[in-house]
Amino acid sequence: MGSLDTKDIVQKYNFKFSKSLGQNFLVDESVLEDIVKGAEISSEDFVIEIGPGVGTLTKELLKNAKSVCSIELDSDLIPILNEELKDYENFKLIHKDALKVDFNEIIGEETSVKLVANLPYYVTTPIIARLLTEGYKFNSLTIMIQKEVAERINSEPDCKEYGSLSVLVQYHCDTKIIRKVSPNSFIPKPKVESIVIRLDRLEKPRVDVKDEHLFFKVVRESFNMRRKTLSNALKNLKLSKELMNEAFEKAGIDSRRRGETLSLQEFANLSNAIYELTKS
Ligand code: SAM
Repeated sequence: MGSLDTKDIVQKYNFKFSKSLGQNFLVDESVLEDIVKGAEISSEDFVIEIGPGVGTLTKELLKNAKSVCSIELDSDLIPILNEELKDYENFKLIHKDALKVDFNEIIGEETSVKLVANLPYYVTTPIIARLLTEGYKFNSLTIMIQKEVAERINSEPDCKEYGSLSVLVQYHCDTKIIRKVSPNSFIPKPKVESIVIRLDRLEKPRVDVKDEHLFFKVVRESFNMRRKTLSNALKNLKLSKELMNEAFEKAGIDSRRRGETLSLQEFANLSNAIYELTKS
């Protein structure tokens, strides 16, 4: 594996890794190349990067994109990044928590927006949920995440990994696995295998849903008690038995099935039936 200057930069500044900030820096050139190639970054693109570390991936992005805006939480990394990337005029650094920044403010009038990140694993799911549910104008997210999370995202009905996260991501995006990454590609080595996955935002959600809030509530409740039948799991919606029976019938779904067997279309049919019946 071709090696990068990540280690030299870490040594030069005597940087101390923080486990709680999920700091595993890339040292494998082939992974870097595959991320940039997989994200299809061109000179038209405005790239947002979460967690630049010492700027290894950032540098590669800067060479290919129109401009890059990186968001880093660790104060110790800010002077390092400012020094190491000072020659790039198309670089902007924001010292903030990616869970709290206003992405609309960062995106402004940009139209071709791609998010690329080797994500800190402790915030993977909340960050993906935020990026997808808050309606930002991203074209795609190309992210390095734990293998287990990638499997959950890509999973289908009847698989044990299929859950709310699979439905959320598949509702908004097409997904594509770019490559697997071994722990040896990072310093320090993480305990888990990783995967680079690309999520392409669909122009409109994959299924027609009358009330998104209700749709995701039905999904959450169905998976909260995944061993129970739908009629039991959905008691938490606090609707009458008669109304629920009518909804199951209208949606053509057997209430003795478990939530984990329902496709996105079936979740949509069920929540749309409940919506129609509670509205009238
Ligand atoms: N991009 C670098 C690389 O690939 O070598 C570093 C990736 S490392 C897995 C994750 C980075 O995210 C670290 O630089 C860490 O300090 C930063 N980070 C952790 N939590 C963050 C948060 N809430 N907001 C922004 N950055 C965060």
